[in-house]
Amino acid sequence: MELELPAPPKVGMVSLGCPKNLVDSERILTKLRSDGYAMCSDYAGADVVLVNTCGFLDSAKEESLEAIGEAIAENGRVIVTGCMGKEAEVIRERFPNVLAVTGAHQYEEVVGAVHVAAPMPPSAYLNLVPDAGLKLTPRHYSYLKISEGCNHRCAFCIIPSLRGDLVSRRPDAILKEAEKLVAAGTKELLVISQDTSAYGVDIRKEPRMWHGREIVPHMTDLARELGQIAPWVRLHYVYPYPHVDQVIPLMAEGLVLPYLDIPFQHASRSVLKAMKRPANEAKVLERIKGWREICPEIAIRSTFIVGFPGETDADFEYLLEWLDEAQLDRVGAFRFEPVKGAAANSLPGSVPEEVKEERYARFMAKSAAISAARLAAKVGRTLDVIIDAVDEEGGATGRSQADAPEIDGEVFLRDAGHLAEGDIVPVRIEDADEHDLYGVPAQAASA
Ligand code: SF4
Repeated sequence: MELELPAPPKVGMVSLGCPKNLVDSERILTKLRSDGYAMCSDYAGADVVLVNTCGFLDSAKEESLEAIGEAIAENGRVIVTGCMGKEAEVIRERFPNVLAVTGAHQYEEVVGAVHVAAPMPPSAYLNLVPDAGLKLTPRHYSYLKISEGCNHRCAFCIIPSLRGDLVSRRPDAILKEAEKLVAAGTKELLVISQDTSAYGVDIRKEPRMWHGREIVPHMTDLARELGQIAPWVRLHYVYPYPHVDQVIPLMAEGLVLPYLDIPFQHASRSVLKAMKRPANEAKVLERIKGWREICPEIAIRSTFIVGFPGETDADFEYLLEWLDEAQLDRVGAFRFEPVKGAAANSLPGSVPEEVKEERYARFMAKSAAISAARLAAKVGRTLDVIIDAVDEEGGATGRSQADAPEIDGEVFLRDAGHLAEGDIVPVRIEDADEHDLYGVPAQAASA
């Protein structure tokens, strides 16, 4: 029997400018070819045409605009990339019908735009990699990266020098990836980046169409859309900007999990200033109170650094008092370590190692006591739990909405042999310790 393969979409390419642009075009085509696309040397046969532009001189820009015009006239389905991507508004003004405009070196963006404009037909013979990509996590949860790099310059961190300023992915590419992951079995999307709340600041004026709606690249808009795609959406690495307050109502509505991973790093104003972090800690306490009023279920996870250069006994005592007041659900702490290349290394007031150790131990004891009390308050309640593993003895391990995989606690279940990985079930909580909860599936409990 002869096997009939569906025809892959064809991509045309017009490459303008210097050899660097040519290499970019080759990379894009190589990636598209490895994704299964066919190449096409004329406009008429192409399902989509890429124009890789040059913007070095005014004459080169004009040539690029003419090439875009020709591709639109001859084919109509055009994606623009390359140096002129920086002038997306000029391009869109002259050619409102272009499908997408991406900048130079944004390979993932342009390839993503081709996937959206000319999707591959589903075929196990053409798509050797599953639609959702190859995953290192279990099927039922997936990390979803929304941006790379960071615009902040926290004194203890070298990420911006390693990864550069923030570059956001286009919202439609993120949402498409989310849909694929969910179609492949993902129940929980874990949104990650270096700075989730800054998502879109670099592409704010480039809304994208998604299922007939215009999506503005902003954390709140993205979170709302993701909440309609996956049963559970968890936000990680949220920098404490004021607009974070806007996602709390989405948590109260149940669109996004009532969970906020928001690294505060410290509470003392002078330490925060030295860290080059927002230093309005009293306001943060008010905001946390406000968040809990809007969404009483919210679980707040944060990380802190103890022993930062210049941290005095008084700063540290203030941090402990602040923690008492804030009553955070999950807390991680690091003892300050100088990282090669970090600005903090040259700050005065280095804290002796034994003092760092002592502060770390006191900080962890305080946060463990808070966590234990907050978990104890859940005993007797029924909580939704996602199942991570079922054992042969009829037990299971899962996580409540307040627990992210790997970093937070777990829920240990008895009488749960009938459950499967990825199930989301109500669980009656019977016991708690400092980190974990213990319970039984609500149906088994009532049987
Ligand atoms: S700590 Fe986070 S917010 Fe600060 S510079 Fe590093 S990545 Fe950016």
